[in-house]
Amino acid sequence: MHQIKAVFNGNFDYIENIKISPFSRAYTFSDSVYEVIPFHNKKSISYEKHIDRLQRSADALSISLDIKKVSDEINQLLSSLDFDNGYVYYQVTRGQDLIRSHMHSDQLETETFGYITQCSFETKKFNVMICEDTRWCRCDIKSTSLLANVMNMNNAKLQNCDEIIMHKQGTLTEGGASNLFFIKDKNVCTPALSNNILPGITRSILIDALQEKNIKVIEDNFNYLELKTATSAWLTSSTKGIAPIENIVNIDNSLSIDDPLFVSCKEIFESKFFS
Ligand code: PMP
Repeated sequence: MHQIKAVFNGNFDYIENIKISPFSRAYTFSDSVYEVIPFHNKKSISYEKHIDRLQRSADALSISLDIKKVSDEINQLLSSLDFDNGYVYYQVTRGQDLIRSHMHSDQLETETFGYITQCSFETKKFNVMICEDTRWCRCDIKSTSLLANVMNMNNAKLQNCDEIIMHKQGTLTEGGASNLFFIKDKNVCTPALSNNILPGITRSILIDALQEKNIKVIEDNFNYLELKTATSAWLTSSTKGIAPIENIVNIDNSLSIDDPLFVSCKEIFESKFFS
């Protein structure tokens, strides 16, 4: 079995040797934030943007964080690579409490955990299901509290879907683990950032890359029924890159993965993402 290299509270070891207390607040309350930092040909992608977002997520929950130490550990994982493509997962937890209490002690030591693993970045076509966004109102924080995503994505799996597209009372938000783009009336559209959406790094790379090529991206509130007349739609994330949606199983649609504007967007994105 391939051994996964990891780091827990500053100690580097293989993952099976790491011991975590059941009183870790990651375990009892999901009181943690995390990042997924992709690398391609041994080179990290948008490293600074990921580190900045980790800091912002920790700040939002008032979890103290030594970002220089975190960055050194991530770099040490990256320098120990024996494969070309993959990602570093890094989680920051408020710490271990002596008793399980919603109100945490003021003397906690932040707990950190990271590991490095392989990922192919092969483009895969997705079948998706639309569902109500049942998550909390701070989805802009990259927290490990992902139960609504887990429930909705596993319901979608029963319908042979790979992902979901969520809407809050009709307004599109994002995928279960990705951001959403679609083409309507020859315009590239994506839900506008809000507390209900994770500001995806891949989303921002794509928007910047398209704007450099004078392709306008409309960031706005859209009703999910607008996907019925979209000509193409796709999801973005650090591990999926751009993943075209082949079919939305629970609404009528005529999405095409050969839409010429989508094909250009994908080419523009890939030349930037993997550069
Ligand atoms: N939204 C959600 C809910 C996600 O989990 C992810 C993946 N972490 C994304 C969007 C995409 O973010 P990124 O492009 O930074 O990977």
